[in-house]
Amino acid sequence: MHNHSTRSDGLLSPTQLIELASRNAVDAIALTDHDTTDGLEEAAAAARTGRVVLVPGVEISVDWGGTTLHVVGLAIDPLAPQLAEGLRGIRDGRWGRAEKIAAALAKLGFAGTLEAALALAKNKELLSRTHFARHLAQAGAVKDTQQAFDKYLAKGKSAYVPHKWATLEEAVRWIRTSGGIAVMAHPGRYGLKPMFRDEMLAEFKRYGGEAIEVVTGSHRPEEYPAWQRIALEHGFLASRGADYHGPGESAVEPGMMPPLHASLTPVWSRLH
Ligand code: AMP
Ligand code: MN
Ligand code: MN
Ligand code: MN
Repeated sequence: MHNHSTRSDGLLSPTQLIELASRNAVDAIALTDHDTTDGLEEAAAAARTGRVVLVPGVEISVDWGGTTLHVVGLAIDPLAPQLAEGLRGIRDGRWGRAEKIAAALAKLGFAGTLEAALALAKNKELLSRTHFARHLAQAGAVKDTQQAFDKYLAKGKSAYVPHKWATLEEAVRWIRTSGGIAVMAHPGRYGLKPMFRDEMLAEFKRYGGEAIEVVTGSHRPEEYPAWQRIALEHGFLASRGADYHGPGESAVEPGMMPPLHASLTPVWSRLH
């Protein structure tokens, strides 16, 4: 229920992603590109051919008091005006941020990264830190994309640029008004202390958030039990997804994640 394509920072086209899901005998797969629904039409066409059910999705970038959160929308309608306009607003904001990231990298001695990152981005509206990371790796400045984040691009590092994304309330509203289900993506990735984590999840629920990811490629397996307990405590449905970005970058392919614990209600029980 969480995968990327070349329409954001994934390495496979929507068609290639669906073909991979088909090979892995996946029943249903969600395409959840960052801040865009651009790949859903192509994915839907490929899914019809490959006998896979496509769950139309999106992963919305949110600023929550200085912490960037990701909210996945599942079974959304990409044509719903509030969602479409909201996502366009976030995408527009990426340009200015990319210029600032490139300026910070230039100060560190890396010239021309804006053009280079843009050349790696198939969707020019969706320039992501991942594209900068891939460029730095390909240029030999770091050993791999992970090291580019660890040294330069992650929060607190020298080329990190804080950014105002959507608010949590907006992201959930856009998803819900489009008929979708709001899922808190990889809640273990935000480094929130238990008090803030509980506050964030309570706020998410108040706005209409219905699920959290428990089993995700962005959690370590030893973290699953804690998030399982938190899902049950807060009364959330549970989701499972590879957060797949492509071969060589993501360890686990779509359909290959371990199952959810039987005590959890899967979010897909709500998908018709
Ligand atoms: P952006 O939306 O441009 O800020 O890029 C966010 C994307 O960068 C995430 O969806 C991940 O794919 C990747 N990313 C963010 N933080 C890290 C990290 N610490 N290590 C590796 N990849 C990361
Ligand atoms: Mn990503
Ligand atoms: Mn994410
Ligand atoms: Mn993701």
